[in-house]
Amino acid sequence: MKKSPLYQVDMNCPVCKVTFKTSKVKTSRCILKSRDADFCVYYRDENPIFYHPVVCPQCGYAAMIEEFDKVSSSEAGKIFANVGRKWKQKDLGGARSIEEAIDAYKLALYCSRLKDSTSFLSTASVCMRLAWMNRYRDNAEEERHFLSHALKNYKLAFENENMKGHMDEMTLIYLIGELNRRLGDYREAVSWFSRAVSHNMRFQKPVIEKMAREQWQLCREHAEEGKKDERENSV
Ligand SMILES: [Zn+2]
Repeated sequence: MKKSPLYQVDMNCPVCKVTFKTSKVKTSRCILKSRDADFCVYYRDENPIFYHPVVCPQCGYAAMIEEFDKVSSSEAGKIFANVGRKWKQKDLGGARSIEEAIDAYKLALYCSRLKDSTSFLSTASVCMRLAWMNRYRDNAEEERHFLSHALKNYKLAFENENMKGHMDEMTLIYLIGELNRRLGDYREAVSWFSRAVSHNMRFQKPVIEKMAREQWQLCREHAEEGKKDERENSV
């Protein structure tokens, strides 16, 4: 029998102080099938992304696993007042369906808004994963909704934050271009792709440079098609 890639770890909730179990995924057992141009990943079996947010079953506090402990006492009070009081016990610590993963991400997004320390980059990353979850289940409207929130927050991160250790600047510029392209703003997309391909990190990031050139080309093709449609409509 094939072994499940899931395993359980103990977590301590910094808001209500209970200990509970949450699932993690042994990534060595996960087989990557493909990746979209905005880095959305597809796995053959279990998708580790489903398990990045941790949710306390007792009070509903949720956050990405690496940020779960980062709560000040005033933030914990705010989270308990806004989430804990209304929370009906629910355990998202086992195997998660896509709907449960989406619930976990939405809770994490909501709780992150109650923390003063939340960065634009971390909000963008949660929104991005919510967009991918909706892509997996073919909900284009919700996907677009979260892509546009991700874009807004990535741009704010680019303008205001030091991203050291999280994402390099050239990749972020490329991703802002790609999100604009996916949302149909081709002119804006082209300006970000052109910034990416002329970035001083291009020699260290040949894959990103190639991706930026390919997506730029897609924008050009779209512009050509648009012009053709205009000509045909004017005849
Ligand atoms: Zn709790």
